[in-house]
Amino acid sequence: MSNVEMRVNDEESPVTMTSTSSATRKTEDHAPALSSTAADLQSQNALLRAEIDDLATQLRMRHDEKAAASEEEVKRIVNSMPMLVWSAHPNGMVDFSSEKWLDYTGMTAETALGAGWLAAFHPDDVELSLRRWLGLMASGAVESAEVEVRVRRYDGQYRWFLVSAYAFKNGSGVIQRWFGSNIDIHDRKLAEDEVRRSEMCLSSAQRIGNVGSFSWSGGEDTLRCSEEFYRILGLEVGTSVTFGRILERVHPDGRFQVMSLRNQRFAKPHEHENRLIMKDGSEKCVLVKISRRESVGGAFAYHGAIADITEKRKSEDALAQARADLAAVAHAASMGEMAASIAHEVSQPLLGILTNAELALRKLSSENLRIDEASQAIRRVIRDANRASDVIRRLRDLYSRRGSAHEVVDLNDALHEVLDLSRSELKRERIAVSREPSLRAIQVKGDRIQLQQVMLNLLRNAIESLASTPEANRTILIRTYETAGQVTLLLEDSGKGFTPEDSRKLFDSFFSTKPGGMGIGLSISRSIIEAHRGVLWARNNDLGGATFGFDLRAATHTLTAGSGS
Ligand code: ADP
Repeated sequence: MSNVEMRVNDEESPVTMTSTSSATRKTEDHAPALSSTAADLQSQNALLRAEIDDLATQLRMRHDEKAAASEEEVKRIVNSMPMLVWSAHPNGMVDFSSEKWLDYTGMTAETALGAGWLAAFHPDDVELSLRRWLGLMASGAVESAEVEVRVRRYDGQYRWFLVSAYAFKNGSGVIQRWFGSNIDIHDRKLAEDEVRRSEMCLSSAQRIGNVGSFSWSGGEDTLRCSEEFYRILGLEVGTSVTFGRILERVHPDGRFQVMSLRNQRFAKPHEHENRLIMKDGSEKCVLVKISRRESVGGAFAYHGAIADITEKRKSEDALAQARADLAAVAHAASMGEMAASIAHEVSQPLLGILTNAELALRKLSSENLRIDEASQAIRRVIRDANRASDVIRRLRDLYSRRGSAHEVVDLNDALHEVLDLSRSELKRERIAVSREPSLRAIQVKGDRIQLQQVMLNLLRNAIESLASTPEANRTILIRTYETAGQVTLLLEDSGKGFTPEDSRKLFDSFFSTKPGGMGIGLSISRSIIEAHRGVLWARNNDLGGATFGFDLRAATHTLTAGSGS
């Protein structure tokens, strides 16, 4: 092209102009001779002009062809793009929509022109789209913008698109044209919505259940936490959570638990309860569960949940306290009831003994000695004394008969309930109870409630014997074991023990060393255990305190023995 231009410029060079002006001067001197030369030149000039016009036409044609070819090329590229492409005049009127755009919407190129494309937008998104589009035109400075809208497909279905517009400016910064692309983000948007929905669901479920979640990668100090986690720990949502920050909230007694988690000293799923001290000094009780998973590259990732169980603990404690109070009341009531009935049963013979003894005394001390009458009165004393002892025997018989209930009782299980009942009392008295249960279920045949009464009585006595022991040394060890068909349950306390003198009377009715003690607990317990063909025993410990326990035949042994008899 530049070669052709050179030629064109050569033809119209100043040389030609110079020769024309000198020819004019020569015409003034030699007019006839030169007139033919001028005519020649004119015709040559005309030829040259024609040639130039011809070349110019060829050039224009070639230029148009090239332009058409490059426009075709651009269209081909545009139409092969996966997104829907369009362009618009600086005033916002669309002048081109790609084939994909037209295929998707089912619109014709003509109907999409100008502002026709808006007909394909969801009615709810038209206002927003127009506002943004017109705002972009009005600003003149903003070079690009994006908006998410629903665009109708040829079959009437709307899908979400990300519509982006870019300004094309000339060298002076004036917008020449707008180019735009619409990218289908429907599936991504639905997936995002789904994720958002399930996150909301999870978050409200966590709030309702007072459960927060957290995770961290092995070797890292920062944790990723759910909103509820922040709430439970009383931390500002979104702030960075490190193990150090968590430790500030954890009760000093439970910090080693957190540190061992930090140092990853566990492989199996881990669970523990801990106490938190909140900013206002209040306490929270939390249950923490964590599991470990191996992630890419062999590193470990840890996922956990934290549940605020403060209310649960409080109501459990209140329930245990209520049950213990109820049991104590029932215990006292039954003891009181028994004492009242004993008093009633025994008071008559006692009154008879007293009256007859006084009568016998009078007859023996009177001037005229009435031996017969005195010995009659003494016989009545003996009769009433026997009646009184009958009352006690009948009471024991009552338990002996009730002891014939034949259910299989798991002693460990029954003991567990008794301890549960006494949990708040043990806590209040600051007694540390440790258990050494038998490795396998330890079963006897008998009356579960009566056996639990014995356990409760032994436990109460152990608690009472610890009253004078310093708090730090108050311990009760409970063991159950089975040897050669015999099961044993014992309670070893660190209390004051008993004297060798008292040891002979411990199981007697109405023997008590406690102020206000009734002294019938051990006596009834012994009746119950004997009714179960067992032995109730007591011994002092070598290092202080006493051990009370009972031996019973194991259920399997009883069955075998029973079947043999
Ligand atoms: P009470 O508890 O009303 O005194 P018990 O029959 O239960 O009646 O107990 C009788 C006595 O046995 C108690 O007063 C106490 O002297 C003694 N005793 C029972 N248990 C223990 C124990 N664990 N340690 C020391 N002495 C005990």
